[in-house]
Amino acid sequence: MPRFRLALPVLALLLSLGCAEPPSEQPTADITPEAAPAGPTLVIHGGAGTLRRGEIGDEREAEIRGVLTEALETGHAVLLAEGSALDAVIATIRVLEDSPHFNAGRGAVFTAAGTNELDASLMDGATGEAGAVTGITRVRHPISAARAVMENTPHVFLSGPGAEAVAEQAGLEMVDPSFFRTEQRWRQFLEKQPSFRLEKEAGGAAGAPSLGAPSPGAPSLGTVGAVALDTAGRIAAGTSTGGLSNKMAGRIGDSPILGAGTWADSGCGVSGTGHGESFIKNAVAHDLCARAAYRGIPVAQAAREIVAELEEAGAAAGVIALDGQGNAVMEFNTEGMYRGTIGANGVVSVAIYRGDG
Ligand code: ASP
Repeated sequence: MPRFRLALPVLALLLSLGCAEPPSEQPTADITPEAAPAGPTLVIHGGAGTLRRGEIGDEREAEIRGVLTEALETGHAVLLAEGSALDAVIATIRVLEDSPHFNAGRGAVFTAAGTNELDASLMDGATGEAGAVTGITRVRHPISAARAVMENTPHVFLSGPGAEAVAEQAGLEMVDPSFFRTEQRWRQFLEKQPSFRLEKEAGGAAGAPSLGAPSPGAPSLGTVGAVALDTAGRIAAGTSTGGLSNKMAGRIGDSPILGAGTWADSGCGVSGTGHGESFIKNAVAHDLCARAAYRGIPVAQAAREIVAELEEAGAAAGVIALDGQGNAVMEFNTEGMYRGTIGANGVVSVAIYRGDG
């Protein structure tokens, strides 16, 4: 007991001296001011990757900016109507999943077997509840399937046909697997794996990953994620993807793994994009929130540190994050990341390249 009596004043002294680490460097242009007022806030990404300015063409770029804006406005409308952060995240991601420009839902990349296998996860920071799906091929909105797992089952994470059965029972829209195919992604797949076409034409075992097929490389832009703060101060986060292009059939990335690609708690939410295997091995999404909480540093600082460490390890990475004060962070080590925010003032900000926005 005497030890305990001594410890309390020492602790009080340390706290009054502000022993939490001070924030480092100035916020970058991609970080809203730390003094931003709390209020309905939404931050999104549409994937990080290699992208040089002008490469995607003016028309396509305008369309992408338009979909990012529509997604932000859709989620923000939910928040303004005092909807939950969870509802806002889902509404936002469904817009992105429906756009062929993103590697989520329709427009997903192909596996080495020439299929589309979709992953998604969702976490409600206020309750700690979460749901996730992997390897699904028939649910139009994978993020809603993640919600169905969260709300309608005693489990957190379901795969393939089991996850699809839960989605169907929940009344979600089911589609033929060909629904997700777009010509652009198919061309991208054939460029990386030309042997697939030859095998098919020769009547070979289409669908079998060919020996010597190139392994999946840098992430293709287009994984989507959202983090929201609602008027009740609740934070939620979600991520949806087709994964790495030309991934092995059955491969599971970070996006549906809680703590790796998605995390939300009472004071912090994160969604990631980039080399999924690195996100899994470093528990990136949870680590970001844990660093901020345990060290008393801004989420912006935690995000910068983690993304820099991933860069040192050679991993392409991007994260979006939000704290309970509505400070939004968009940090990445690639040439571009589709991204955007909308805050309490309702002003939409959308960016693609490094230095934009
Ligand atoms: N992180 C995703 C995955 O590894 C891919 C991406 O974000 O581009 O599945």
